[in-house]
Amino acid sequence: MTQQGHPKGLYLLFVTEMAERFSYYGMRAVFTLYMVAALFTMDAASEIYGYYTGLVYLTPLLGGYVADRYWGNRRSIVVGGLLMAVGQLLLFLSASVVQPAISEAEGVIDPAVDNQLAIIFMMSGLFFLILGNGFFKPNISTMVGSLYAPDDKRKDSAFTIFYMGINVGATLGPLACGIFEGNYLNPTYFRWAFLCAAIAMLVSTLVFWLLKNKYLRDYQGQPVGTGPTHHEQVQKHPLTRKEKQHIAVIFIIAAFVIFFWAAYEQAGVSLTYFADQQTDRHIFGWEMPTSYFQSFPAIFVVLLAPVMNLVWETLGRFGHEPSSVLKQAFGLAFLSLGYLLIAYGVKDIDPAAKVSMFWLTGLYFLHTLGELSLSPIGLSLVSRLSPKHLASLMMGIWFMSTAVSNMLAGQLATLYPDGSSKSLFGLVEITSLHDFFMVFVVMSGIAAIALACISPVLNRMMKE
Ligand code: GLN
Repeated sequence: MTQQGHPKGLYLLFVTEMAERFSYYGMRAVFTLYMVAALFTMDAASEIYGYYTGLVYLTPLLGGYVADRYWGNRRSIVVGGLLMAVGQLLLFLSASVVQPAISEAEGVIDPAVDNQLAIIFMMSGLFFLILGNGFFKPNISTMVGSLYAPDDKRKDSAFTIFYMGINVGATLGPLACGIFEGNYLNPTYFRWAFLCAAIAMLVSTLVFWLLKNKYLRDYQGQPVGTGPTHHEQVQKHPLTRKEKQHIAVIFIIAAFVIFFWAAYEQAGVSLTYFADQQTDRHIFGWEMPTSYFQSFPAIFVVLLAPVMNLVWETLGRFGHEPSSVLKQAFGLAFLSLGYLLIAYGVKDIDPAAKVSMFWLTGLYFLHTLGELSLSPIGLSLVSRLSPKHLASLMMGIWFMSTAVSNMLAGQLATLYPDGSSKSLFGLVEITSLHDFFMVFVVMSGIAAIALACISPVLNRMMKE
């Protein structure tokens, strides 16, 4: 390890997380399509998707708490990984027993088809995935921070490298699992997508388990994540005023971040419907599978992360690098811009028309600029501000904002226009795609402005 380079442990965490995110995003890319093909209506599928992606990020609270207090990071990651592999295998079983409910000839739902067993397997699979992610996700992120001394300047760049690992996985997962995109005539074809996700999860856990003892050490060469950090620490040091303020900053920023992910996470749901039904996906005569669109943000992250790092570095050289808090506000602003672009693109189009891929691609490009400004910087911020004995729990709190967002995302996606009358809290009528996208423009725009306004106060709280 050199001062410029990074400890080898970072690359082990990179690979472990890359394979896990491959599995998570690979499954997610086909999940709503699977449900809609055989099991549920579009609105019901949106809601289930929202609950699933919401709960997946709520259990990190539990996983963070258990790791700090009892198990340590390493054991939590192995347990979480195995639980998620079981979850993916149950989805594989679900898609193995599912039967087509709509016959091609008649085009109507056949009431004789009973897919109860497929639904039971699917729901139990989701349960295992939700629990497993709780043990895995906060702990792997905490471990990135614990490879470094608390004040090590390399932390931001370490989290950006780790974030690239996340997104290499998130790029390849949908591409690989998307190959096995079934349809309502052949829903069992989806089973190979879920099997592919299960294998990736097993690989992730195995690699971590085999190499953890060799590489996961802190800057003094001591093993990290082997046991609880909570007990002896808390009896020695009750929380100081400064620590309490830092925790408050994490909570406040996490609350704003809810508005980011609620709009961003439309990717797997309403934006997938949009890609499926209203986007012309032909490139030189080849029709791209709908689920491939979900790889776009991840590909953009991998391409743009070094560019963003360079931008911050250059601004820093001239003394103009925005504070971490302001970067979160920029993230929200880019998100708003992305929806503004697509709202313009779909204005006054015929509901049966298909628009160019440019609009969705442009939206994902802008969203990625926002994500890079907000997400890895946020992880690094949490790692810097958390008291050591609460580090994993605070990661859990950070991910809790994603949980709330995802639940909200599923609800907001039910506003996606389908010809029936829809309204936002009974206040605003949503009659077109334009109206639908404008909801997100306004929501994230207001959050961006509000956060930018209070950023000086938060910066002071972080310093004191
Ligand atoms: N896309 C990132 C990941 O999958 C961030 C998720 C989040 O924090 N909501 O890890």
